[in-house]
Amino acid sequence: MQNTNNHEVILSVKNMVKDFPLGQSSSNNLMRAMNDVSFELRKGEALAIVGESGSGKSTGARILTRIYDKTAGDIYFKGEPLDSYIKKNGSLEYARQVQMIFQDPFGSLNPVHSIYHHIARPLTIHKRAGKEAIPTLVYELLEMVGLFPVKETAEKYPHELSGGQRQRVAIARALAVSPEVILADEPISMLDVSVRLGILNLMADLKDKHGISFMYITHDIATARYFAEKTAVMYVGHMVEWGPSDSVTQTPQHPYTQLLLSAVPEAGKSGRRELGAKKGEIPLWRPSSKGCPFASRCYKASEKCAESIPAPTMISEGHYVRCNHL
Ligand code: ADP
Ligand code: MG
Repeated sequence: MQNTNNHEVILSVKNMVKDFPLGQSSSNNLMRAMNDVSFELRKGEALAIVGESGSGKSTGARILTRIYDKTAGDIYFKGEPLDSYIKKNGSLEYARQVQMIFQDPFGSLNPVHSIYHHIARPLTIHKRAGKEAIPTLVYELLEMVGLFPVKETAEKYPHELSGGQRQRVAIARALAVSPEVILADEPISMLDVSVRLGILNLMADLKDKHGISFMYITHDIATARYFAEKTAVMYVGHMVEWGPSDSVTQTPQHPYTQLLLSAVPEAGKSGRRELGAKKGEIPLWRPSSKGCPFASRCYKASEKCAESIPAPTMISEGHYVRCNHL
């Protein structure tokens, strides 16, 4: 796997916090969906954000696409604070450069419009091409995502395609505006197992050949290892372990990362070698909560873990862990 550490940082997040109101009662009744989250996306690199449901992965992507406001923290795009980048270049330009792909490719396509329409539309909105050039560009994009024959595919409607083909259309639509970054939120988890690898390989191609940076959100650490150079493991809004995917998955240090990896079925082995985790509750994190969020499920937990989550420890080049029991 290529080392992309020297690649330019495109998008970075520093000490991000996101609180949501719980119910409608009082504005003090909050849950903390992201707590002190920091990461960066480099050119042509994929960062996988791995964690179970509710860990704050989608919230991060929604903040980056400005669907949600952050509660605290800083975002930088191409070295500049995001607000000042947008002031200078406009929000449409930022939206062009940071595209999103969703879990459900059917939900993200409009059933009454043809595939051609879906891909031509962003070309028009973002003024990527004159009217005459659009058909050629649409066909080129369909070819790029492996949808053949291109003309016949363009005439079809979303319901005439398979899940995998629809996700390829969603990717073509994102590519139409030549983005720098694609935020892919569980892009293969709703697809048939047989087509998942094809979509991952397509995204890998776009990353390696076209220099697109990916944030790859998944609950499956096995695909993170396959696709992404870097992996960050999240639990209840906290990054607990992150670094080069090889290092994180081959020498996991945090008990939660170890638990995720122990649940991955290995080729040639029958059954799962699942680590003994306690069946504790997943905590509801509040702004006033303290300690390690995994403590209630962790077999290593001690009193210290109820008090604080330590600062990150670097255990090898670029590989960090937040655990009291290393
Ligand atoms: P993931 O994508 O890792 O499954 P999310 O980022 O969707 O997790 O959610 C993290 C937490 O934030 C969850 O507890 C979820 O209920 C909460 N949350 C997400 N979006 C909202 C919202 N718009 N309003 C209130 N709570 C939200
Ligand atoms: Mg999600």
